[in-house]
Amino acid sequence: MLDLLVVATHPDDAEISVGGILAKAVEEGLQVGILDLTTGEPTPHGTEEIRQKETSWASLVLGVQWRENLALPNRKLEASLDARRAIANVFRRVRPRLILAPYHEDAHPDHIRASQLCVDARFWAKLSRTDLEGEPYWPPHMMNYFSVHLRIHPAASIVVDISGQIEKKMESIRCYESQMSVGRSEHFPTVMDDIRDRARYWGWSIHAEYGEPLFCSEQIAARRVDQLLA
Ligand SMILES: [Zn+2]
Repeated sequence: MLDLLVVATHPDDAEISVGGILAKAVEEGLQVGILDLTTGEPTPHGTEEIRQKETSWASLVLGVQWRENLALPNRKLEASLDARRAIANVFRRVRPRLILAPYHEDAHPDHIRASQLCVDARFWAKLSRTDLEGEPYWPPHMMNYFSVHLRIHPAASIVVDISGQIEKKMESIRCYESQMSVGRSEHFPTVMDDIRDRARYWGWSIHAEYGEPLFCSEQIAARRVDQLLA
């Protein structure tokens, strides 16, 4: 059973968008996992073997306890019933309290499909009298993270302070050498500069050094008033 499950369309999406939240959740003693939907290949400088090694290193850096890959079709991801079933089966098995899923608005079609798949699979996971595996389960919380492909200014529902985790986040992203450095310009701003500066911007928005934003289409409950003082 996981406290937090990040659903990532491609290996490296989780680290880029919520690597700080993942590292912080592990530090807080939570059970944390990542479900990668595709291998991310083909890309200009990667292979499936290289990507698997890079993903394992990044997982070690973050300290996540659970990670699997459904090997759905990269670049051609569809919000199909088979894909929905595969994800719902995972939700029923690992029973996450909070799911972090891709935001619905994105430049990458795979991310858009993945966002819809998470909504659909969350609903299916609670069904009884189905051919799904395991017992019915309704993941109580679902929020969305933003991808680097999205060159708009999204409105965040909440920003998590990752000032103490920024270096671990960047280290986890550097593990994806085939995606982050091979064949890329070394002139400022690099893709790593973009990711770090974006985290700095969100940190600025909450009077912190670094932050990661999340969007929630549902109401966020406060069980105690002092939660509003954080
Ligand atoms: Zn992606």
